[in-house]
Amino acid sequence: MLVKYFCEICNEKFDEAKECFEHELQHIEKKFTCDKCGKTLDYDFSKYEYLLYLNQFHHINLGRAGYGSKLDGCDLVFNLCDDCLYDFIMTFRNKDKILYSGSNYKYN
Ligand SMILES: [Zn+2]
Ligand SMILES: [Zn+2]
Repeated sequence: MLVKYFCEICNEKFDEAKECFEHELQHIEKKFTCDKCGKTLDYDFSKYEYLLYLNQFHHINLGRAGYGSKLDGCDLVFNLCDDCLYDFIMTFRNKDKILYSGSNYKYN
């Protein structure tokens, strides 16, 4: 039998692309937790709006802090919800640098 589709994560075989895609989604962590406030979100991939929700949760990976940092040796990998990220940025002295950047630059 000719196998057309493989799960890229566990190599399970599928005849249909749709079955394979739905199977692969099950490997993805479906719960997001903000490491600051503890808010959680369950992704529902069957809903069109899930992309809007995903944009409200931020995965931040700064790598491992090095010698000289107060966090020397720590892996700086964490999740922040949109509210916590926004509140953090609002504490910046130079927050305008972020608020008026990208596609918002014209409002500066
Ligand atoms: Zn799999
Ligand atoms: Zn939060």
